[in-house]
Amino acid sequence: MQALVYHGPGQKAWETVPDPTIEAPTDVIVKITSSTICGTDLHILKGDVPEVKPGTILGHVAVGIIVEKGDAVTTLDVGDRVLVSCITSCGRCRFCKEGHYGLCTGGGGWIFGHLIDGLQAEYARVPFADTSVYKVPEALTDEQVLFLADILPTAFEVGILNGNVEPGDTIAIVGAGPIGLAAIMTAKLFTPAHIVAIDLDASRLQRAREFGADVTIDNGSEDAVAAIMKLTDGLGADVAIEAVGVPATFELCTELVRPGGRVANVGVHGHSATLHLETLWIRDVTITTGLVDTFSTPRLLKLIADGKLDATAFATHRFPLDETMSAYDTFGDAAATHALKVVLEAEPITAVPTKGKELVGARA
Ligand SMILES: [Zn+2]
Ligand SMILES: [Zn+2]
Repeated sequence: MQALVYHGPGQKAWETVPDPTIEAPTDVIVKITSSTICGTDLHILKGDVPEVKPGTILGHVAVGIIVEKGDAVTTLDVGDRVLVSCITSCGRCRFCKEGHYGLCTGGGGWIFGHLIDGLQAEYARVPFADTSVYKVPEALTDEQVLFLADILPTAFEVGILNGNVEPGDTIAIVGAGPIGLAAIMTAKLFTPAHIVAIDLDASRLQRAREFGADVTIDNGSEDAVAAIMKLTDGLGADVAIEAVGVPATFELCTELVRPGGRVANVGVHGHSATLHLETLWIRDVTITTGLVDTFSTPRLLKLIADGKLDATAFATHRFPLDETMSAYDTFGDAAATHALKVVLEAEPITAVPTKGKELVGARA
């Protein structure tokens, strides 16, 4: 089969590799029909994630069809269409039993495109299939559910739920990339009073408004702290969500939050940030961090199936799976291409042929 293989920092290739085979009786083999590229893949290619060994197939998001199953798989069958999530669950360890699948110590957690071969491939081996994949309702397209494999539950669990967002809250979301936009989308489920998006890029702020932010702040030209204080009678935001992953944005969140408020970090950080305890110690602020567990995926899937949530607006570009290298170029140059998410399609699934072109009016 063909797959996107990591060959060390800065190096990758779409190439022929051996077909995956069943290695444990709890495995299935999935024929990938749709996949996508994540910001984390770009981090890996920069060499930021040294656990990823050269030779590993990248990718941790896919929809596909089961073509083979191990003897111990009981709730899935060949032919089932499934969402393969970024998080795998052994179902047996202490953390899996508590719903913290992201912390799985039994061989699961974030393994695809990290510790084992990933999903930017024609086929993939999926371990612990019974406890890790989600059957996709027939009525839904790949694109409707694809972003449930990572960005939607990540923003919802690590941002909105960890931040304990409540009706009437003012939420400041720092960073309006795909994760920040997914936080805006899922924050709306709780009817906040204000969703404030803060970013340095005007086109990202425009997207944030389209996704549902009612206030946007360009913190290159505006003082974000002053703007939030003005909006909240000098108190600060009830919840500040960090969706970038650099020290300055984390520190900004701790300045934006009101006394007694919550800072939820979602961004992936590569450097230490300063925790200003000299101002925070007296302010009763809660700070949370985390990797997604995906315990909310069934709930989000139900909202999509019931038409209450539509994530298709994230799909700005589409490529055939065998043009994954070009898709990386487009995704990696988002400042110029305005890409949010690129969809890699193994076969034509959508009605509109939009290969590599930006979709006009793609937002639902
Ligand atoms: Zn990801
Ligand atoms: Zn586990």
